[in-house]
Amino acid sequence: MPKLPDVERSWVAERQRLTDEIAGEALATSGLTGRRSFAPPILDAINRVPRHEFVPAEHRGLAYADIPLPIGHGQTISQPFIVALMTDLAAPTKDDTVLEIGTGCGYQTAVLAELAGTVCTIEIVPELRIAAAERLARLGYGNVAMATGDGHRGWPEKAPFDAIVVTAAADEIPPALVDQLKPGGRLVLPVQSGPGRQHLVLGEKDAGGELRTRPILPVAFVPFRRPIEPS
Ligand code: SAH
Repeated sequence: MPKLPDVERSWVAERQRLTDEIAGEALATSGLTGRRSFAPPILDAINRVPRHEFVPAEHRGLAYADIPLPIGHGQTISQPFIVALMTDLAAPTKDDTVLEIGTGCGYQTAVLAELAGTVCTIEIVPELRIAAAERLARLGYGNVAMATGDGHRGWPEKAPFDAIVVTAAADEIPPALVDQLKPGGRLVLPVQSGPGRQHLVLGEKDAGGELRTRPILPVAFVPFRRPIEPS
């Protein structure tokens, strides 16, 4: 390992501990998720992305705890285990173009950008998008395209996508996202499954364009907002 100042070295050690914890959690939840482990490149990506750079200064000491944290504007940075699970389900590779809905602080974006060819990401809160754009550029993620807007419409100009990851909970699967997924593509999103209940859902589009879905795990995401339509 290159020589690092003490503080940087301790982030590296904490990140490794978090990565090991996520690998253990993958095994512990395998009865629900059907997968006993995450692909090594996914764990390597978690081990490379400096989560402390995505967390507000007052919560930085908890950056490598496996918990969501507030990022302002009533939003959160997702729990690292859930980011790893969603990335494993989306299974991005270097040739892939991936759409993410709900950039937030950009942490999931960075994990996807470590693995995919291009990541397109949409955020509805302009201030969050601007801060995430500055952060991802500073950290050297050059393969990310960002837009401010409503993710229900997807990003038709950039479609079709090999995988789509939504990081806010929808009432139902937005049809535009299914349309913009390639045959063979994967859609990963939290869906409301009852009052106060959400499930992470994996959708796979078959060669005929049909989306087959299955629930993976109960989750707790912020709502997928509907923009206020001008009357
Ligand atoms: N991906 C983030 C998690 C962000 S939380 C991470 O890695 O931590 C979900 C984000 O979705 C919030 O920033 C919220 O503002 C955004 N969001 C909610 N509704 C949306 C919509 N309709 N279109 C785009 N983004 C939306």
